[in-house]
Amino acid sequence: MPEPRDWDSEWLTLSATALDAVSRAETLEALEAARVDFLGRERGRLTGLLRSLKDMSIEERRRLGPQANALKDALEKSLEARRRSLESAALESGLAASRVDLSLPPPPWPRGRRHPVAETLREMTGILARLGFAPAEGPLVESDRNNFAGLNIPADHPARDLQDTFYLKDLPLLLRTHTSPVQVRYMEAHKAPLRIMSPGRVFRHEAVDASHSAVFHQVEGLYVDRKVSMADLKGTLSTFMRGLFGPQAAIRFRPSFFPFVEPGAEVDVRCLLCAGKGCPACKRTGWMEMLGAGLVHPNVLRFCGIDPGQWSGYAFGVGVERIALLRYGVPDIRMLYENDLRVLESLAP
Ligand SMILES: [Zn+2]
Repeated sequence: MPEPRDWDSEWLTLSATALDAVSRAETLEALEAARVDFLGRERGRLTGLLRSLKDMSIEERRRLGPQANALKDALEKSLEARRRSLESAALESGLAASRVDLSLPPPPWPRGRRHPVAETLREMTGILARLGFAPAEGPLVESDRNNFAGLNIPADHPARDLQDTFYLKDLPLLLRTHTSPVQVRYMEAHKAPLRIMSPGRVFRHEAVDASHSAVFHQVEGLYVDRKVSMADLKGTLSTFMRGLFGPQAAIRFRPSFFPFVEPGAEVDVRCLLCAGKGCPACKRTGWMEMLGAGLVHPNVLRFCGIDPGQWSGYAFGVGVERIALLRYGVPDIRMLYENDLRVLESLAP
């Protein structure tokens, strides 16, 4: 026979510690351990005592039964209350750790914009498109024929000098020095009349300084029709420059020589800084050199299969970087190509 258990003594210990263990649990894990200790199905101490009621004497059962059941109820309620309290504390501290202030303004979002050269090119071609010029493009690598011979630039012309032109090694090809070969390609492929613009990159073998780059952009205009005159050219360029620089922009023609036009002209715009009074930017002349233009040379028309007796035309070529420097007030062409974001961001269009 096993020793009879001292139920009263076991009950005393149990009832004295159970509720205390629950209230002392600081974490959900500690609370679960306390629950298993007292109410666990297999080894819980209170569960064990309740299961043993049937082994007790009637007197013990009457005394301890109601008390043990009351403790079980109290313990269950206490466990539930403590669990809620610990859970809400955990939630609070989690929220505090990841606090988000929804009233704060968002951090600045970097905004992209067009490069000043691209933006200038876009505006130039936009104005010419409104004047009726259709876009035409050609390759960057060209033949001598299209870049020089077809444009009335003879074999001994200084523009062909190695100083100016990048030739391809072992091939009779070169990097185009102007966008004019597109004229040749287009006139050979299409019949007159025609009115085109050819924007694009060109290459010159020259030292880079504040106003020169080995790679830059041009927009070329070409108009071939019956009886095209210098007056037509001047009217178009006047509208073009006013579109770029505003309604006060005035132009003048100075006679000049380019092999592919006759007559040829340098086109100046009245100084944008001093309005013609004379300042360092215009070398005190009141005018700024802007582009080259002229009536298409009969030799060029003839080369491209267009009869100069029937047709005439004008052509002009503008450097995009030159326009961009003036429009953005940038003193040095290299600033456009070093891609220093601090500079580019300061050049708001
Ligand atoms: Zn000036």
